[in-house]
Amino acid sequence: MKTVDLIVPCYNEEPVLPLFYDEINSVMQSCTGYDFKLIFVNDGSKDGTLDWILKAAEKDRRVKYISFSRNFGKEAAMLAGMKYSTGDYVGIIDADLQHSPELITGMLEALEEGYDVAAARRTDRSGESKVKSWFSRLFYVISNKMIDINIAHGAQDFRIMKRKVVKAIISLPEYSRFSKGIFSWVGFNTKWFEHVNRERAAGKTTWSFFKLMRYAADGIIGFSAVPLKVSLLAGSLFSSVGVAYAVYIIIRTLIRGTDVAGYPSIISAIFIIGGLILFSLGVIGEYLARIYMEVKHRPIFIIDQTNLDPQQQQEENDYDDN
Ligand code: UDP
Ligand code: MG
Repeated sequence: MKTVDLIVPCYNEEPVLPLFYDEINSVMQSCTGYDFKLIFVNDGSKDGTLDWILKAAEKDRRVKYISFSRNFGKEAAMLAGMKYSTGDYVGIIDADLQHSPELITGMLEALEEGYDVAAARRTDRSGESKVKSWFSRLFYVISNKMIDINIAHGAQDFRIMKRKVVKAIISLPEYSRFSKGIFSWVGFNTKWFEHVNRERAAGKTTWSFFKLMRYAADGIIGFSAVPLKVSLLAGSLFSSVGVAYAVYIIIRTLIRGTDVAGYPSIISAIFIIGGLILFSLGVIGEYLARIYMEVKHRPIFIIDQTNLDPQQQQEENDYDDN
């Protein structure tokens, strides 16, 4: 019998967990022929999430948990789940029921057909503000121009993967993780499932607009060096214009003498150039900050308690490329 580990990152999900459990339970029961495990990753929740999970683990032997010492973010939670998973198939699903559990049946069938990954892609963005969807579309356009890998539009973290794919993903040791990029970077044969966005069943999203912008920046900067080249290009363009203008002024002065006009153009030049310098410094700073975090080699998450056996998972996941 094949084993399936479903990873559920949870941050303050107390209101939604009972609903989630009911739905996922009926899906697990309908998929006969698989041995399921639910790995709840409590990402430093401040509500009763952990208590609920601990109680569920007492009642249901399929329920496993990893509880972080503080909030490390969804990326860290997904990574912890994958590192501690041992299943032949490993899935990731949100706790808020925005990822419909009933899709799992079809995803498992796709893996049996020979696909390595079955992933959800959302087709509609209802229940999301116009501004948010506009920015999200803009992100895919910009990132796909800058990044060598292609991130499928609307690709979600909701997916089930074969063991080899998970091994490849956790072999990427980077600290600033951007899973959407990592998932497509590792490749493998993926079947996409169109998925209509559901409203959150309960609780509220923890992604503010600002957090999403940072996430987008992480994605672009983590997978591309183009922004560095853009500032180089803009810098050289503007300085050549500056040099040409200076030459023109010198020649004009030699021919026609000086005039005091030109105050506005000087001010605007100062602003444009100063702005560009600050912008380029900012871009460099973004890369530098990430290099700094990478070289520190800090752990991506710290586990406070778990009912999984770390030793065994480590052996299971040691990466070998044959
Ligand atoms: N999540 C997490 N850590 C965080 C933020 C979110 O583990 O710091 C989990 C959250 O519990 C949920 C999933 O990630 O299961 C998606 O979060 P959310 O629903 O807030 O994001 P959205 O669906 O709005 O993108
Ligand atoms: Mg959600």
